Amino acid sequence: MADDCLFCKIARGEIPAKVLYRDDEVVAFEDINPQAPFHVLVIPCRHISTLNDAEDGDEGLLGRLVLCAARLAREHGHAADGYRTVFNCNRGAGQTVFHIHLHLLGGRSMDWPPG
Ligand code: AMP
Ligand code: ZN
Repeated sequence: MADDCLFCKIARGEIPAKVLYRDDEVVAFEDINPQAPFHVLVIPCRHISTLNDAEDGDEGLLGRLVLCAARLAREHGHAADGYRTVFNCNRGAGQTVFHIHLHLLGGRSMDWPPG
């Protein structure tokens, strides 16, 4: 837990967010600046700054993030048409909030490779 971390505060309920799912380990909420009609961030409640900081023992937690994203995509009707899941790691990849988050984007077609 990091006192000055935006996503730790969202996980603790100290900053409002449009939460779609919450349990003891994972929170999923709408991105405040959506890049697709459906843009959700799935985060661990525990503070991990970047994917580089995930360790042996975090497999279960990281797997829960991915499965949570897949379940939300299914529940919101994006499974058949498709959706994208992305971890940006460090500034060169576009990471701006240093608490890991899995982007879940759906509701539009997407290009590859990403910019
Ligand atoms: P990244 O650039 O991969 O670090 O993604 C950070 C994401 O967090 C961006 O898509 C932002 O729009 C989003 N974001 C920043 N602040 C908030 C907030 N208070 N609530 C929801 N999403 C946020
Ligand atoms: Zn944090």
